[in-house]
Amino acid sequence: MSTRTADRLVRDLESICGERNVFWREEDTLVFEYDAGFDRRPPLAVAVPKNTDEIARCVRAARDAGVAVVPRGAGTGLSGGTIACGDAVVISTARLRTIHEIDAVSRVAVVDPGVPNLEVSAAARPHGLFFAPDPASQRVSTIGGNIGTNAGGPHALRYGSMVDHVLAVEMVLPDGEVAVFGGVAPDLPGYDCVPLIVGSEGTLGIVTKAWLRLLPLPEDVRTFLAEFPDVRSGARAASAIIARGIVPAAMEMLDRTTIRAVNAAFDVHLSEDAGSMLLVEVEGLREETGSATSAIVALCEDEGARGVRVAETQAERELLWKARKLGYPALARIKPNSYIHDAVVPRSKLPDVLDSVNAIADRYGYTVANMFHIGDGNLHPLLLFDLREDTIEGVMEASAEILKVAIESGGALSGEHGIGLEKNHFMFWVYGPEDLEAMQRARSAFDPDGAMNPGKIFPGGDTCAAIPTERIKRGLAEGMWI
Ligand SMILES: Cc1cc2nc3c(=O)[nH]c(=O)nc-3n(C[C@H](O)[C@H](O)[C@H](O)COP(=O)(O)OP(=O)(O)OC[C@H]3O[C@@H](n4cnc5c(N)ncnc54)[C@H](O)[C@@H]3O)c2cc1C
Repeated sequence: MSTRTADRLVRDLESICGERNVFWREEDTLVFEYDAGFDRRPPLAVAVPKNTDEIARCVRAARDAGVAVVPRGAGTGLSGGTIACGDAVVISTARLRTIHEIDAVSRVAVVDPGVPNLEVSAAARPHGLFFAPDPASQRVSTIGGNIGTNAGGPHALRYGSMVDHVLAVEMVLPDGEVAVFGGVAPDLPGYDCVPLIVGSEGTLGIVTKAWLRLLPLPEDVRTFLAEFPDVRSGARAASAIIARGIVPAAMEMLDRTTIRAVNAAFDVHLSEDAGSMLLVEVEGLREETGSATSAIVALCEDEGARGVRVAETQAERELLWKARKLGYPALARIKPNSYIHDAVVPRSKLPDVLDSVNAIADRYGYTVANMFHIGDGNLHPLLLFDLREDTIEGVMEASAEILKVAIESGGALSGEHGIGLEKNHFMFWVYGPEDLEAMQRARSAFDPDGAMNPGKIFPGGDTCAAIPTERIKRGLAEGMWI
């Protein structure tokens, strides 16, 4: 695009949002080049509008200049969904942070897209309500980003992910029109577009308001931590719990590498020789959690658990969760770089898939740590490496092999992080040309010109960004490691 057109667009954006809310100098756009994934590419400009009207006008200005638009929340996405492909303007929702209403009677929250996930539950709590989707990034990741990626979290096992909790959205469409999809009344007639929009990774429009389902706080919560000699016995216990008809609110597993890392870094007192650890949480009526408690303890012991800790108080509960929540920072002490996967596999195949993952990591010479949502089979193998010695190409090759094993076991490419740029070239592994064509047609109904977050989800966009290997190496040499 010509410098003149780019300059004119920046002036237009400044006249809409104010000069201080538009960034275009290299040093200002630098932090918008990347998210929590590896890919990186500078946007043409970044606009930070304050409301739906300004977002709509920014989208129209970009369209008139022939420039694509990339919606951005907190930028914690792990699949490169916010990377600007081509000449693109990033539109940030950072200034749309109002919780408009907590309707305790209808159990609905009406919120802006830039509201961090955890703030919804905090606002609902005085009304005896909570918002169920709980990505580990929930302190910072936004409702707009959670909708974009159909975010899940530990409690998705019982409550489902974002798609089960979004009742309606207001969205700025690629032509700058504003439309509302869905509604709070049950059984709306006509096509339900909300499940299509949730998980569409910003390719259909920019969500500017959301109506979210709230749930009553459970009467009782019980949390257990069981240590097993190996992953297989822990996985068998997890399957036995579900087979008994108990649907825990959360069921998480840590492997030996993660347990040792957490022990070394923090005061959590796990057994150093445990081969796996299962964290189980049940919630509901007191009678329900009471009977689940004895069943879970017995099932874990049957599968060889050496000691099951049961939290009696909120403080003890938090202590048990500490091991899970501090996993990533603990692992960062082992190697400065890591790459996290997000494949889903059938629960029955978990032990075999984990054996294969470990074998792949061994063959490539990387340490692998596994800390994941075992209840719904959402694996998060974390390859740990050091770019001063390892190559990113090797990490990507090993990652492709890991994904292949997961797919061949009957699994899916992503459980919660989305496809983005990171996995779009693997979509051919799971979908034929007709399937992708059908998805493209659905997208075209909203965005016939492909101007909204181009290069994501569909194969072909992965060449738009680069992994800045040299810059990462330089950073490490200069001490850029926690
Ligand atoms: C430490 C850590 C832990 C994490 N744990 C989890 C986890 O447990 N579960 C999980 O699901 N994810 C997890 N993630 C990934 C990430 O936090 C989620 O994908 C989250 O939903 C992204 O929210 P965000 O506001 O950062 O969105 P961004 O990264 O800014 O954007 C993500 C995608 O959504 C689109 N988008 C953003 N805002 C809008 C909008 N208003 N309208 C339309 N599209 C939009 C973007 O274009 C992009 O495609 C984790 C990430 C980190 C770094």
